[in-house]
Amino acid sequence: MFYPKTENAENLMPPITPSRRLLARLRTVMASGAAKLPDIVSLVAGELVAEVCSVYSLRAGEILELRATQGLNPQAVGRTRLRVGEGIVGLVAATGRQLNLADAQNHPAFAYRPELGEEAYASMLAVPIRRGGRTLGVLTVQNRTSRHYSDEEEDVLETVAMLLAESLVTEGSDTSEGFAGSLPRQFDAALLSPGIVFGPVLLPGSGPAPRRLLAEDSDAELARLNRGLRAMRQGLDNLIETQLPAGDLPRDILDATRQVAADDGWLRRVAEAIRGGLSAEAAVHRVAQDFRTRMRQIVDPYLRERLADLEDLALRLIVALDGSGEKPPDAAGAILLVRRLGPAQLLEWHARGIAGVVIEEASAGGHAAIVARALGLPCAGGARGAIDAASMGDDAVLDADEGTFILRPDPNVREAYERALAARAVRSAAWQKLRDAPSVTRDGEPFTLMMNAGLTLELDQLATTGAAGIGLFRTEIAMMARGSVPDTAEQAAIYARVLDVAGERPVYFRTLDLGSDKLLPDSPRPEEENPAMGWRSLRVGLDRPAILRRQLRALLLAANGRKLSVMFPMVATLTEFRQARGLLYAEAARIRPAPSSLLIGTMLEVPALLWQLPELMSEVNFVSIGSNDLLQFVFAADRGTPSLADRYDFLSVPMLRLINMITRQAEESRISLSLCGEAASRPVDAAVLLAIGVSQLSMSASSLLPVKEALSALNVAALRSYLATLRRTAATYTSLREPISAWARDHGLNV
Ligand code: PEP
Ligand code: MG
Repeated sequence: MFYPKTENAENLMPPITPSRRLLARLRTVMASGAAKLPDIVSLVAGELVAEVCSVYSLRAGEILELRATQGLNPQAVGRTRLRVGEGIVGLVAATGRQLNLADAQNHPAFAYRPELGEEAYASMLAVPIRRGGRTLGVLTVQNRTSRHYSDEEEDVLETVAMLLAESLVTEGSDTSEGFAGSLPRQFDAALLSPGIVFGPVLLPGSGPAPRRLLAEDSDAELARLNRGLRAMRQGLDNLIETQLPAGDLPRDILDATRQVAADDGWLRRVAEAIRGGLSAEAAVHRVAQDFRTRMRQIVDPYLRERLADLEDLALRLIVALDGSGEKPPDAAGAILLVRRLGPAQLLEWHARGIAGVVIEEASAGGHAAIVARALGLPCAGGARGAIDAASMGDDAVLDADEGTFILRPDPNVREAYERALAARAVRSAAWQKLRDAPSVTRDGEPFTLMMNAGLTLELDQLATTGAAGIGLFRTEIAMMARGSVPDTAEQAAIYARVLDVAGERPVYFRTLDLGSDKLLPDSPRPEEENPAMGWRSLRVGLDRPAILRRQLRALLLAANGRKLSVMFPMVATLTEFRQARGLLYAEAARIRPAPSSLLIGTMLEVPALLWQLPELMSEVNFVSIGSNDLLQFVFAADRGTPSLADRYDFLSVPMLRLINMITRQAEESRISLSLCGEAASRPVDAAVLLAIGVSQLSMSASSLLPVKEALSALNVAALRSYLATLRRTAATYTSLREPISAWARDHGLNV
């Protein structure tokens, strides 16, 4: 099983055992059609032996209004209002998280409202009333004695909140206006997969709401659950068989999802909830809600991914149970807005035609982001608050190139994006024409553009971009996508496929660069203060050589007598390079047929290597500058810290002097030099790199033709003389981007 920790994720969840008696009474009340909320609060207060039970619901303007209470001053109903974020009730609505407080009045968020008459009550349990990913209100209980409410009590209140969500919606409360608003809102988002799209917002939220919440006949519901499970598994099998050709990596992810589906731990919880009196779909809904709550509290990215997978399955099961078929929302051309997304869900949404996706809680190394990149689907992460601010069908723009998500854009903004998209369509047609054009500047200097890749799914972009080869194959991406390091034969099959598709074009395989932000689920998580400078990458490979040797063997087997280029990451000393090369030679001595040529090189990412260049370059066949890591280490600025993202620039005096030094040494040593960090993807940076002597660049496939367009239009000799002039005043600039970009535009470059 790929997901050995599923058990752990599941153990984080308390049992779901709503009281059958309470649910039976609620069923009667809810079916009565009479004023329900006062009856509901009095039932809940009785069940939980609480002196107070109250319901607040959201009104227009992000105001929470007391709608019913047992125990507080009845005169306050309809009068007490709190802003979202104000008081404990407001805090629960704002965060979507329950609060279980033994001493509520001394909580920093407590807001005193004299009309409520709650001075006598010490403890308070408040849970959000949520539906479809949005908060509709808050349900509370309070007691005089100072006490911490038990897991069971929390569970009862959460279940009632789920039921209440349905009645607040059917009552037609004006909650939707509260968060929807009508004004434009702009959100910063992390770049996960590039592209610009606009379209209506698609908010699947927590999936279709259950049609029926309570059921008398648990056995019949359990039988329905089993039928739903069969349908869900069948659906998953079809998805795997029909959507993905064998050997593609997301297939492995889906296979793993299928195995999680077969794991009966979480299904036991669903069955328990059914026996407690919920309908099958309401029980699944309730368990899914629990996943969501738990996920918010879990920091460990691996466990969060696993819970996201379970949530993905729960949503599928609700759809399968609701066989009568709620009409699926129209997905074609829409921008999907979700808190989390499993890889299987993403593939399905993609098949239904979504134009882009914003995943609030996505990590760049998460499965969904990897699959989005492989599918070429614009995708951004973060955009905190967007889900609560959006309504289904709202107009939106997703700019996953710049990291912006705009809800209900002003018509002028929308038009600007439409113009940008139209211009882009014209440009992309022009870019396609460039695909087979020679790579040479306007003044006749040749350059080589290669692409970076990490999944076999990306290989067809070699043909669509006309890339000269793969300048960086990040082998760890495939392993992160599948969640483990495959055995030698499986790895060899992946690498052989890469070489098959590349044909005569060179491929630079980088050995495993795990650690820092790139972690495998099973790898021990070292307690490090600075993991980017910690025990990562080649350091791990040399200290625990079994995995590295296995990978080197797989690469040699994949080459099967063809050319092979192997590149080691994060090399800091000549000795490390020699040790790594020694491992490669040891494996090469045992594998036949031997590669027709074996080129060995390093990434240049650690500054210490800059002072060992002559010796290093006398021993390697090639060097590739990893500008992402090099920049972070030169400026001592973590590349993953958003607040530092724009502080230091690659186009700066220290970086350019340093690249200059490397180029001169590479020329002297007559070894091949390339650059494969993000800088190569930016046309201005690429032009400067070419001008200072780095003529081989490897970049994301989507950037290749735009960079080729800029370089083809470049008079590199003119740029060189401009840089020489700039050098005289350059020391006063923190970044040279502005003046160089201005020069480029003045000289007709599309930058
Ligand atoms: C780099 O550091 O520039 C690089 C290409 O490697 P990665 O981004 O995978 O760390
Ligand atoms: Mg790197």
